Amino acid sequence: MTIASVDQTIKLISTGAAAGSTCSPELTAGPWELDAGTPGYGPGSSMGDVIPTGSPRQGALPETYRTASPEELAERIRAAKATLGDRVVILGHFYQREEVLQHADFVGDSFQLAQATKSRPDAEAIVFCGVHFMAETADLLSTPAQAVILPNLAAGCSMADMADIDSVTDCWEQLEELYGTAPDADGRVPVIPVTYMNSSAALKAFCGANGGIVCTSSNAETVLEWAFERGQRVLFFPDQHLGRNTAKAMGVPLDRMPMWNPRKPLGGNTAAELGAAQVVLWHGFCSVHKRFTVDQVDTARREHPGVRVIVHPECPMAVVDAADEYGSTDFIKKAIEAAPAGSTFAIGTEINLVQRLAAQHPEHTIFCLDPVICPCSTMYRIHAGYLAWVLEGLVGTVEEPPVVLNRIVVPDDVAGPARTALERMLAALPPAPARQGA
Ligand code: SF4
Repeated sequence: MTIASVDQTIKLISTGAAAGSTCSPELTAGPWELDAGTPGYGPGSSMGDVIPTGSPRQGALPETYRTASPEELAERIRAAKATLGDRVVILGHFYQREEVLQHADFVGDSFQLAQATKSRPDAEAIVFCGVHFMAETADLLSTPAQAVILPNLAAGCSMADMADIDSVTDCWEQLEELYGTAPDADGRVPVIPVTYMNSSAALKAFCGANGGIVCTSSNAETVLEWAFERGQRVLFFPDQHLGRNTAKAMGVPLDRMPMWNPRKPLGGNTAAELGAAQVVLWHGFCSVHKRFTVDQVDTARREHPGVRVIVHPECPMAVVDAADEYGSTDFIKKAIEAAPAGSTFAIGTEINLVQRLAAQHPEHTIFCLDPVICPCSTMYRIHAGYLAWVLEGLVGTVEEPPVVLNRIVVPDDVAGPARTALERMLAALPPAPARQGA
């Protein structure tokens, strides 16, 4: 099946050949044009966010990959994959562009891809077409002999960057001073740290070292239940919306979910507010999902009577409340697959997944809640040119020996406790199979 590509749609809009609008004219440029130290995350949903100093940068992509046509790149990727065979496995996140995802051996959300990492211990190289924290997680879950490769080092995540280890440690020390460290009569400690998968390995390690755990959007409720069994309250980072939406669905009152602003003493709260807290929410968000609004939901309902509105739990609470359903990318995908033909869906998640689902399900009407095309800035950094480059590096040539480019390695002192937090998560939920093939 030929899937309509978001890149192609953007190009058609930019030339006037198609109706519609995009959030930035720069989306038509190759990501390599941003590799020369351009400040910020680049065009797309995170372009208004401040990128932390020292964030990884991608070096120059050789010209042969920058100037190759999409067809030539696809052919080179296929040839390199065929040569490498089982020595390489390519993982692709749902939000990747079609031109990359067509080459993936496994396609899924971050949780499914974490599982997929463990399913191929024989592969020498895991090429992760996703963002930096996902590649770190793959490194944590793979064997020491396996090399995890991120095709473009600048593919970070603006949400993950909103919580850094120094700010979280500072928060933790303030909470320990306030709550103490002694367990209550039921043996529950004062606070359990929970980090969303979308966070650095350092934060996963922090959770592992402090009795905490990792969650994803597909298991957040299970993980919070795990945490409440062991702690009187939870410190949840970095995504306030996933934390709030999940805890609210579990019955936690909003006034017992204060937000922690790392730039203010006690996160901008009083000691009494923190004392009553059940979930302390970090002041982080996803700029892709922050774009969805209640107005968009109202417009969809007005223009498409009977529409089913499904949004991701990284959306603001008002949008989740206005929607018919909410859930992880895998939940959204399965809901569409299970619907009777002729259904209409308005979806609140990243445009690459929405457009792919629309192409895969011509029996339904599926559209993105946000009429403006605005992909995730950092997922957008992975392009077929970088994928061809890292794969051909693994193959080598007569003149050049094989080379592992863009390897992501989590230091040993971080890896141990980070793995502990991940393994707690994997043990808290039965494994979900990843989808084989694109
Ligand atoms: S969609 Fe949001 S959470 Fe996911 S990688 Fe992009 S910025 Fe990060």
